[in-house]
Amino acid sequence: MRVIAIDGPAGAGKSTVARQVSTATGLRYLDTGAMYRCVALAVQQSSTDAHDAEAVGKIAREVSVVIGRDVSMLNGIDVSTEIRSSEINGIVSIIAAHTPVRDAMREQQRSWIRDQQGGVVEGRDIGTVVFPEAILKVFLTASPEVRAERRVGQSGGDIQAVASSIAERDHLDSTRLDSPLKPSNDSVVVDSSNKTIEEVVAEIVAHFESVDHG
Ligand code: C5P
Repeated sequence: MRVIAIDGPAGAGKSTVARQVSTATGLRYLDTGAMYRCVALAVQQSSTDAHDAEAVGKIAREVSVVIGRDVSMLNGIDVSTEIRSSEINGIVSIIAAHTPVRDAMREQQRSWIRDQQGGVVEGRDIGTVVFPEAILKVFLTASPEVRAERRVGQSGGDIQAVASSIAERDHLDSTRLDSPLKPSNDSVVVDSSNKTIEEVVAEIVAHFESVDHG
């Protein structure tokens, strides 16, 4: 399978980079964070306790989540804006730590890749757990200061509040028991702190071309 896995912490530039890598390679793009965000929104809408793994897992199995390149649909409704709210930022890493939720999302991610015959997939556990056989695994990172500044540049907000929200999410994502955020042994680690998007994309595409054409 021609899968490019792009994992890394919040605000490292994964979405922007993955989209451009998708355009350059012709592979379809999947934002797996948007899938977890849709489940978090369904949890919020139903006033379910985000810490209740069983109840949240049931929601993850029952909702319809369809992630397109630009639009995220929850039960047939466009929720692209709602899933980016600070409330969702506050609960998404809690619900994403539950194994029943991860099992449901992984199954959908693998089925998406089978249908698309490959893709550029970004998230936290794509290279380590979801597609360990991906032909290219990238761990995209940047310093905490740069990541907070980029987020504020994209969506506004107070820099200290954004930095602490990112730090809290990274902590939950990297310390959970089920598929914690970490680089896989065979990933290419790209630190984007002092690089432009174009430089990062060119680096990843060059790696892909070298493995794709032998
Ligand atoms: O990438 P994004 O910031 O939208 O991801 C939101 C959250 O979804 C992450 O902080 C993480 O808790 C969860 N996530 C995950 N595994 C993935 C993708 C996202 O646990 N593959």
